[in-house]
Amino acid sequence: MFNAIVIDKNDEGQNVAMTALESDALPEGDVLVRVGYSAINYKDALAITAASPVVRSFPMVPGIDLAGEVEQSSDPRWQVGDKVVLNGWGVGESHWGGLAQYARLKGDWLVRLPDAFDARQAMIIGTAGYTASLCVDALADHGVTPGDGEVLVTGASGGVGSIAIALLAKAGHTVVASTGKLNEEAYLKGLGATEVIDRAALSEAGKPMQRERWAGVVDAVGGNTLANACAQTRYRGAVTACGLAESMNFPASVAPFILRGVTLYGIDSVMAPLEPRERAWARLARDLGADTLESVASDIALGDAPGVAADLLAGKIKGRLVVDVNK
Ligand code: NDP
Repeated sequence: MFNAIVIDKNDEGQNVAMTALESDALPEGDVLVRVGYSAINYKDALAITAASPVVRSFPMVPGIDLAGEVEQSSDPRWQVGDKVVLNGWGVGESHWGGLAQYARLKGDWLVRLPDAFDARQAMIIGTAGYTASLCVDALADHGVTPGDGEVLVTGASGGVGSIAIALLAKAGHTVVASTGKLNEEAYLKGLGATEVIDRAALSEAGKPMQRERWAGVVDAVGGNTLANACAQTRYRGAVTACGLAESMNFPASVAPFILRGVTLYGIDSVMAPLEPRERAWARLARDLGADTLESVASDIALGDAPGVAADLLAGKIKGRLVVDVNK
């Protein structure tokens, strides 16, 4: 038997509860992982609250992230005792996920846990941090350098934003953090932001072209904020769009793209191939120290996971929620 958060659905709606399951209830897969830690990401909160149709089949164990140890494997690439991390691939959406003491998975989905991290640290990072790293890689590939000017991070106090600030600052960029939590200025500056701005300055509809400011942008919120960020991006600068915490809409004009040569990069973590995943994790392993990770982490037990989802969607959580699935 093992414990898992289970989302079930009937005519009256969705029910979420910690449940004891038989190990033979696990879905098919070639690697059995004993999970050490998982996390609550924005998408997990959407799944748990049913705020958006993230879950594709019921019953579902949510959790798009997990880190743990291989306990059984019929995949020659993975041996008993290997330490692994998993982000995305539809896990926690269409395949039982990480908010459980065990997960059975495809070997193709696993990434070797970098030596720099233990399972808990990997989940402090989780999909949010790995996505932040994909964004920073995209800006670097575009050629954005510290000498080019300020880089904007939106949704700054959230998971993606917090890790993006730390990675960008470590790479030498001048980072401006846009947040709804102005009382968290010390936290954001501690991560490496040089300036903290009120997200209200970006969230109203703005002109198609505005004063050029940003050499690069990591946007986790979409909506008017993303449109304004594009309109304020400097000639031949780059914007990475990875989130929708403000809105799924993109009420923008083509002006920044055709008149300033701005490039908008879409960032997807879920189906990203192995090479960019390993590269993103290598940046995280190189650039994030243990102290930085601790500063963004809040620890919760498995049974607490359903209760925190609404607060996360309301933007009330700072940094990353790490779940000890054995507590
Ligand atoms: P979090 O909930 O940790 O952070 C989101 C942050 O966005 C909040 O902390 C808040 O920061 C800000 N925010 C919340 N509500 C609003 C609002 N109404 N308007 C403007 N800003 C708001 O989520 P994550 O960092 O984990 O994820 C951020 C986004 O990225 C989500 O939309 C998520 O779905 C997406 N995502 C996408 C991935 C991909 O593969 N493309 C992978 C991972 C995440 P503050 O108070 O500082 O403004």
